[in-house]
Amino acid sequence: MKIFCVGRNYGEHAKELKNEIPEEPVIFMKPKNALLQPNTPFYYPEFSNELHYELEIILHVSKNGRYIPGKHADKYVNEISVGIDFTARDIQNELKKKGLPWEKAKAFDNSAVAGTWKPLKDGALEKPMQFYLLLNGEKVQHGNSADMVFDFKTVISHISQYFSLNIGDMIFTGTPAGVGECSVGDRLEGFFENEKLFDIEVK
Ligand code: ZN
Repeated sequence: MKIFCVGRNYGEHAKELKNEIPEEPVIFMKPKNALLQPNTPFYYPEFSNELHYELEIILHVSKNGRYIPGKHADKYVNEISVGIDFTARDIQNELKKKGLPWEKAKAFDNSAVAGTWKPLKDGALEKPMQFYLLLNGEKVQHGNSADMVFDFKTVISHISQYFSLNIGDMIFTGTPAGVGECSVGDRLEGFFENEKLFDIEVK
């Protein structure tokens, strides 16, 4: 199982971190151990002093494929949810400054939270979808999939030009503006179309 992630896929988020809007999808990966298992506590990583939440719409791959054309890309995913791409922003900033890979900041154990999966209906990926994150009960991120720089089908197709997609893989499709720090004791609740799909506490 692989976890693909898209960086800088919402213009307002790219701007808040002073990054340029990319000309093609920015892709990075997290290993299997990055996925927080159900009923497992999330612990603040000891190597970071600036842990950020990034709420993202996530897709579940249901069919193996490579070189997938954009127009058929929705046939390769069957479920959707929201999740968190936890990021050690202090580590990432250091690595970015040196032009080094991001894995220590992005791919550490339990850095990927996936909410409850919902079935995807035909054509659903083309409609705008709303999602939001509550931090201790206060709305801190609110996204609309229509604001993506690269839409879902383009992202799936692009990834498949470089990597095989396999059943069980996940795709984190990018975070909207409003990312920020979280601390021990914080509660994070992720909503997709007004339905709560995850609820975690930082330990
Ligand atoms: Zn992200």
